[in-house]
Amino acid sequence: MKVQLLEATEDPEELICTAARNDYYDGYVGDESFEAVMESIDGESIEEKQETLIGHLLDHGHFGPFEHPQVTFAVEGISRSCMAQITRHRHVSFDVQSMRYVSFDDVDPAEVEEGAMVVTPPSAADPDWVGRNQRTGTVDDETVAKREELFQRSVRQSVEDYQELLDLGMPPEDARFVLPIGTKVNMVMSMNARMLMHVADMRAAADAQWEIREMTERVLDLASDWCPITFDYYESEMKNRKNRLAP
Ligand SMILES: Cc1cc2nc3c(=O)[nH]c(=O)nc-3n(C[C@H](O)[C@H](O)[C@H](O)COP(=O)(O)OP(=O)(O)OC[C@H]3O[C@@H](n4cnc5c(N)ncnc54)[C@H](O)[C@@H]3O)c2cc1C
Repeated sequence: MKVQLLEATEDPEELICTAARNDYYDGYVGDESFEAVMESIDGESIEEKQETLIGHLLDHGHFGPFEHPQVTFAVEGISRSCMAQITRHRHVSFDVQSMRYVSFDDVDPAEVEEGAMVVTPPSAADPDWVGRNQRTGTVDDETVAKREELFQRSVRQSVEDYQELLDLGMPPEDARFVLPIGTKVNMVMSMNARMLMHVADMRAAADAQWEIREMTERVLDLASDWCPITFDYYESEMKNRKNRLAP
């Protein structure tokens, strides 16, 4: 999979601090410099003052100001299973690649066995992989070789059948019914910083499925470049806490 930051609010932490200071400021933040708005906050420099205020907000659960900065990510090559999970988050906006308008008629089914078009889960080839609700623990090399062969045969067959149905004149919106849930999809998603923390609470957690966890970790890496004080604090003080109903 690939995850990229497409667009984001410039200087998100100045925005978070300005919005938060608005609540307790006797003047009008729109008329003041950022330095004036932050004057009463502890810290030698403006960066230290931002760290003080953002740490205080997150520590006290004052999450509203984190709804102002927005970020948009492009995601390539996740499974439709992962897409179904992330799109359950109602405060995230999505655009998802269509299987009605994009047909996979030029994909070579032999390449599907090697990972084209369908995501191959690590458990297909890793004998030591242990996932949730698995019937056995680790397995021997012979068993995992059979597992890999069966997985490859199955995804190749479904793509061959899909392409044959297209050749027989079936519309892509119907032929797609035979494709596996592991079929790859590209997606654009936008959210605010508060929602990003909520998604991470749920989807970077140990009980989340490996693929959405991997995607969320990549999103978090990009978020800590974009909005560093907030997401460094999130990483060190908040991540892996018990999920809150309303973060
Ligand atoms: C490990 C794991 C396993 C899961 N398994 C399943 C499963 O088997 N089946 C299944 O259907 N789903 C499953 N889910 C999805 C889960 O139930 C949620 O639907 C999904 O994670 C969206 O999160 P959310 O409920 O926090 O809502 P979001 O849409 O992310 O909303 C964020 C917050 O806004 C508030 N909110 C939003 N909408 C409303 C509303 N209408 N009413 C009241 N408050 C609202 C809530 O406080 C909510 O937490 C699973 C999720 C995880 C992480």
